[in-house]
Amino acid sequence: MITELKPVRDFWKKMPSERHARIFLEAMIWPSGRHCPHCGSLSSTSIRGRSARPGLYQCGERECRLQFKVTTKTPMHAAKLDLRIWIAAIFLVLTSSKGISPVVMARILGVNQKTAWKLGHAIRELMDDREAVSARLAGVAEVDEAYVGRAPRFKKGVKNKRGRGTGKPMVLVAADRNGQAKATLVPNAQGATLGPIMKEWIDPSSALMTDSNTAYRKIGRSFASHHTVTHGKRQYSQPSKRAHINTVEAVNSQAQRALNGVYHRLGRQHLKRYPDEILWRWNHRQQEVKVRNQKTSSGTKKIATTVWKLIPVVEQMRGMLCCAVGRQIRRTPSWGLHWP
Ligand SMILES: [Zn+2]
Repeated sequence: MITELKPVRDFWKKMPSERHARIFLEAMIWPSGRHCPHCGSLSSTSIRGRSARPGLYQCGERECRLQFKVTTKTPMHAAKLDLRIWIAAIFLVLTSSKGISPVVMARILGVNQKTAWKLGHAIRELMDDREAVSARLAGVAEVDEAYVGRAPRFKKGVKNKRGRGTGKPMVLVAADRNGQAKATLVPNAQGATLGPIMKEWIDPSSALMTDSNTAYRKIGRSFASHHTVTHGKRQYSQPSKRAHINTVEAVNSQAQRALNGVYHRLGRQHLKRYPDEILWRWNHRQQEVKVRNQKTSSGTKKIATTVWKLIPVVEQMRGMLCCAVGRQIRRTPSWGLHWP
């Protein structure tokens, strides 16, 4: 069983053939034993024989009896690519700090750029853990908006607004101070839109921190306390109340860096999946305390610093792939994507 994939060297050492990659994926996608993706039955038999494709199983349920593979009904459904390319693509997405563009992925993996684009979207589909019973944000929860996507086309004499009031799609972002965050695309910044989402995300016993947007005023009453900072008045924190929204702004800046550096052209129809990827990276880190000795005049002093490190890649893959069944995506003849 492969427990760690660190350098690229591990790929040819641990997966010398596609069979190894398939066994690895089977352990990830079926952590509690093989099950039929059509009916969920736990009884199935392996189809052997010279003409059978490797890794093909048949459901043992009398009403079902359908054949399946480990990739059936996942975003890898009917994949013609070597499964090692899929695992390498997931590895590249998980280990690049701001994301990876299809052009670069295609260059590294030796596949067509359109193939790499689909690989990227399939992986982002796996990163969507909104349906998972992920815990609510608790303690101190900060909320802010981000505006993503390309600025409107240049027009002489027209000045495009920045921030609130811009024509760009809006993302609502919430983050607590324990390293967890949530984000989703929203149609507008009105209280009636933001309220229900925030109540679903954030535990009512939390202290809410927002900017001075009036839409948050009424929502704030649903939480234990509500503090605001007014950026317009150059107020960025209220130290006495430990009020600031710097954590959520750090999440937004990660998104902004990914947009500036990697994803320049975002299709609006696919936009909702990019926050998933950026949030995945934010949510899959762990704190590590590093202690170092510093020499002072009175001897050596121990200084502890806390750093955020990525959770090991295979651990992340396990979290991603355990709910892969049912997230099938296919390519349309016109190179788009559709969800059957
Ligand atoms: Zn079945």
